[in-house]
Amino acid sequence: MDFNLDDRQQMLVESVRRFVRSEITPGILHREREDAFPWDIIRKIWNMGIMNLTVPPSVGGNGVDILTSALIIRELACGDAGIATSAMCNDLANAVIAFHGNPEQQERFLGPFVAAPLLASFCLTEPGAGSDNSAMTTFIRKEENGSYRLNGTKCFITNASFAAQFTVFCKLEKPAGRFLSCVIVPVPEAPGEGDGKAPEQRVIDLPGGGRVTVGKPEDKLGIRLSNTASVTFEDVIVRPDQVIGDRRLGFSYIVDVLDYARPMVAAIALGTARRALDLTLAYTRERKQFGSRICDLPVARETLVAMWKKTELAELALLKAAAKIQEQASDRGLYASLAKNTAAEAALYCSAEGLHLHGGYGFTNDYEIAKLARDAHILDIYEGVREVQHMIMGREIV
Ligand SMILES: Cc1cc2nc3c(=O)[nH]c(=O)nc-3n(C[C@H](O)[C@H](O)[C@H](O)COP(=O)(O)OP(=O)(O)OC[C@H]3O[C@@H](n4cnc5c(N)ncnc54)[C@H](O)[C@@H]3O)c2cc1C
Repeated sequence: MDFNLDDRQQMLVESVRRFVRSEITPGILHREREDAFPWDIIRKIWNMGIMNLTVPPSVGGNGVDILTSALIIRELACGDAGIATSAMCNDLANAVIAFHGNPEQQERFLGPFVAAPLLASFCLTEPGAGSDNSAMTTFIRKEENGSYRLNGTKCFITNASFAAQFTVFCKLEKPAGRFLSCVIVPVPEAPGEGDGKAPEQRVIDLPGGGRVTVGKPEDKLGIRLSNTASVTFEDVIVRPDQVIGDRRLGFSYIVDVLDYARPMVAAIALGTARRALDLTLAYTRERKQFGSRICDLPVARETLVAMWKKTELAELALLKAAAKIQEQASDRGLYASLAKNTAAEAALYCSAEGLHLHGGYGFTNDYEIAKLARDAHILDIYEGVREVQHMIMGREIV
């Protein structure tokens, strides 16, 4: 394995790092308090060509490989895990189309994202189907005219209040059906930038028939700059050309997307862990107690070393997962889970211990470390909770 970045990767990492330092880090705590969706940042990220990383060059995308995508997401997450989550979930929704859509579907459903800074939602989770997504009940049923009718409710959907398109996983024919399908539901209008406040409710009557209702945005502990809401599909008419790939292979498409998604979550967690370590090093180099810098007190030094080790090991796990996925190795799922799990642990550990090393100051919302500690929890939950990653790793190694 070669750990050296090529010139393009190095250039991208440096330009995202500069962007984060100048545009995201300076006002991040103020932005979080304002509770407005950071449209201005999303637009700038889109202008830089680092949104929609999975869109292939054939439809005008940048065709960025998974390692480069992970490096970009990691750098964005050093600025804010919520912004990185919005960008990453946009990509998840579009990845299914990029991986399994035919050329016409790619042109039709990915083209608009190349032309304008639009947002997409990846709709998998349901109120009764979280870790066990096979328990989902949202379904499509074929009509006599060959179209399908989509009904069901998804929850915790990132970007939903602003999305121009929904990628929806659903059962085929009946709520308890054996097969899963994946369908694309574009909607005619998406709320523009405005003041960034998400609508309390969004009701969209579709020209082709049916209604999409997006619920009240969730009031979350962390990643507050990402938008999360429920989405209900009522009698939505889905034409056969909105069904991605084989209508019975949705489950294998989920596995493909999660193999891509888990390293991306690992990248967000790694960015969070690294930011926590950097802030804590800076703070403990400045602050003196017992006549010496906190970073020179032996027990505190031990904690700093433990934080650094977890961050470095998470980075190694991420690089290995990216290499495995790039070469389509048969054990790529195992390494995707390892990367996600290791990096989530690093983010939780570094933000909690970093907060502790900031003492009482870390417990106030004036210090970014408190925000990182709140953000870190989701990294151990979405795209598969810790126990699910352990289940996958256990199954694979045994
Ligand atoms: C901010 C945010 C953004 C999200 N974005 C999206 C999105 O864009 N699209 C989307 O589809 N979903 C999204 N999700 C949903 C997320 O992926 C789910 O919340 C997650 O998969 C867990 O499902 P659940 O919440 O139903 O928890 P549950 O599955 O009910 O699990 C609850 C707890 O039970 C335990 N548990 C579960 N399974 C096992 C097991 N096998 N063994 C042992 N213990 C277990 C774990 O401790 C777990 O934390 C998002 C969630 C949040 C909070």
